[in-house]
Amino acid sequence: MDATSTRPVLELRRVSKVYPGPLTVLHDVDLTVFPGELVAVVGPSGSGKSTLLHLMGTLDRPSTGSVAVDGIDVSTLDDRRLSGLRARRIGFVFQQFFLLDGMSALDNVANGLLYSGIPAMRRRRLAASALGRVGLGGRLDHHPAALSGGERQRVAIARALLARPAIVFADEPTGNLDTVSGAQILTLLQELNAAGTTILVITHDAGIAAQMRRQIVLRDGRVESDSRSGDLPATHPDPASAAIPSPAGVRR
Ligand code: ADP
Ligand code: MG
Repeated sequence: MDATSTRPVLELRRVSKVYPGPLTVLHDVDLTVFPGELVAVVGPSGSGKSTLLHLMGTLDRPSTGSVAVDGIDVSTLDDRRLSGLRARRIGFVFQQFFLLDGMSALDNVANGLLYSGIPAMRRRRLAASALGRVGLGGRLDHHPAALSGGERQRVAIARALLARPAIVFADEPTGNLDTVSGAQILTLLQELNAAGTTILVITHDAGIAAQMRRQIVLRDGRVESDSRSGDLPATHPDPASAAIPSPAGVRR
């Protein structure tokens, strides 16, 4: 592999988050995800998963430490560039789907590219193709109310894939689904990963985490363990230390 293909898509270095109080909910978290990985971050309620998701997804900034997405240290970006990076390089899938009721599955997905500068016709073509990838090619005109929970989550996944992001964060993606639909969504995530999409799933459910190739256990805001996946060298060279200038302690 050359340097480009081993560059991390996500790199957290000594990330901490302190809320007023002060309450430190993340302590010196180091976390590196390489292209093609399928990772679970698992931990009990209150362990800091949502806080971590917000930092990884650039929705919030760390108190100290650095976050790099696709090789870009996000602390160097102003809010406008940060939203641009988020829109182009990060996909989100949430437990609650967050679809708009008044529009079709096709438009829900196509709207994910609303501010991309891509013309409407092409957005809709891309959306139709993304819905096909998640098995909903026959449901383009359905509104969310006419879809099952599992189908709604598929629409949300299609929307997350549309911009071909570097990484997709799925936060408790099966949390609102029955067992069968949940299992189907996990299978879909595994298939998308096998086809090349880098995916990080956040869950409190050890059974779900066990189905991912790599598990990172979060406890009391610290990484308790990290099972590096078998298809990466155990001692992976760290090209990022050369590629990404890592400022000591970004304070915001
Ligand atoms: P999880 O998603 O694993 O349940 P969270 O990241 O939501 O964990 O919360 C971790 C800890 O941080 C909890 O003790 C929670 O009460 C606290 N917390 C989360 N968000 C805030 C906030 N905005 N202000 C203060 N404390 C917060
Ligand atoms: Mg949470």
